[in-house]
Amino acid sequence: MLFKKPLKITGINWPGALFLTLTPPAAIVLTTIHLMREGFVWQIWLMAAVFYSMTASSITGGYHRYFAHRTYEARPWLKWYWSLFGAMAFQNSIFIWARDHRVHHRFVDTDSDPYSINKGFFYAHFGWMLILEEPTVDMGPYGRDLERDKIVMFQHKHYVLIASLMCFALPTLLGWMMGSWLGGLAIAGFLRLVVLHHMTFFVNSWCHYFGRQTYTDTNTAKDSFLMAVATFGEGYHNFHHIFANDYRNGIRWYHWDPTKWMIQLFRLMGGAYNLRITPQNDIIRMQLQMDERRLKTRLQPDWHDQLEARITELKTQVEAAHVRWEKLREEYKKLAADYAEDARHRLDELKEQLRLARSEFKAALRQWREFNSTMMMQPVRA
Ligand SMILES: [Zn+2]
Ligand SMILES: [Zn+2]
Repeated sequence: MLFKKPLKITGINWPGALFLTLTPPAAIVLTTIHLMREGFVWQIWLMAAVFYSMTASSITGGYHRYFAHRTYEARPWLKWYWSLFGAMAFQNSIFIWARDHRVHHRFVDTDSDPYSINKGFFYAHFGWMLILEEPTVDMGPYGRDLERDKIVMFQHKHYVLIASLMCFALPTLLGWMMGSWLGGLAIAGFLRLVVLHHMTFFVNSWCHYFGRQTYTDTNTAKDSFLMAVATFGEGYHNFHHIFANDYRNGIRWYHWDPTKWMIQLFRLMGGAYNLRITPQNDIIRMQLQMDERRLKTRLQPDWHDQLEARITELKTQVEAAHVRWEKLREEYKKLAADYAEDARHRLDELKEQLRLARSEFKAALRQWREFNSTMMMQPVRA
C-alpha cells in the first residue's frame, strides 16, 4: 500500500515539512537559472559529485554503521569527519538520527517503528518526517551512550549552524572561487542535497518493499542490488536487519558496498579499527533456514516425509562442509602465523586439505541450490 493514514497525528512538523517540500523546487529553479545563465561548468559538477560521495558515505558509514550500530571503533578525527560531512546531508543530528534508527531496528514494522512500512510506502519514505505523532516508545534508553559522546552532543547542540554552513555556505564559497557562486549553491548545495535525501529515504521505503528476503522473513527488510547501487551499499537491507552488528552490508567481495570499502580505507588510514563481522557459519545457517522455509511454504500441499529427509540431508551437508572448511582455515592461519621451518610440510598438507574442503563446500551448496530451484519450479496444486 502506498498511502495509509497514520494513527495518532498530533500536528505538523513545520520545520521538517517546509524543508523537505521546499528544497526540491528550490533545487530545480536554481539549477535551471544557473544552467541558462552560465551553462555547464564541469568544475561545479565535479565538486557536487565529490561532496555527494562524502556526504552519502558519512550517513551510511558514519551516522548509520558507526554511530547507530557501532559496527567498528573510530578515532576522534574520524568521528569529527563523519559529524561534519554527515551534517552536510541535512538529515538531522547524529543524536536524533541514530536514536530513531535504533528504535526502527528494535520495533521494525510495528506502530512504534518511526518509519514503519506498514503505514505505507510514502510514510516510510518521508511522510513520517512531515508530521508529529504521539510517542509510543520512551526514546531515552536508545540514546544514552550518544549523550555521553562529546562530539555527538557538540554537533547536536550547534546542528543548524554546522549543517547550514556545510550544506549551503561551503559549496557557494567554493563555487565563487571557481567562478560561479550560483552554480556552487544550486548544484553542489541544493541539487546534491535533494538527490541524496531521496536516495537515503529509499532505504526506509524501497528496501522494506521490493527485493529478496535472503536471510529472514520475520521482518519486511529486503535485499536489493538496485538500491545497493543507489545508496552506497545499504541495499542489502535484509542482511543488515538480521546482522546489524556487521560493518558490511554486502558480504561478498563483489557485492556493491562502497561504504564497506570506505570503512576499510579508513582502517588503513588508522581512523577505524575493530571492524566487526558476523561468523560466516551463522550467515550460511540463516540463509539455509530461509531457503528451507520458502521451499516448505511453496510445497505445502504436496508435503511428505521423503522430501523432508532429503532437505535435511542436503542442508546438513552444506553446513558440515562449511564448518570443516572454516576449521581448517583457522588451523592454517594459526600455523602460518607462528611459522617454523619444521611446520612447512604440515602447512603444505593443510593447504591441500583446504582446497579440497573448499570445493566440497561449493559442491554441497551447488547441490542444495539446484534441488531448491527444481523444487521451487514444481507446479503447486491447490
Ligand atoms: Zn530498515
Ligand atoms: Zn541499521
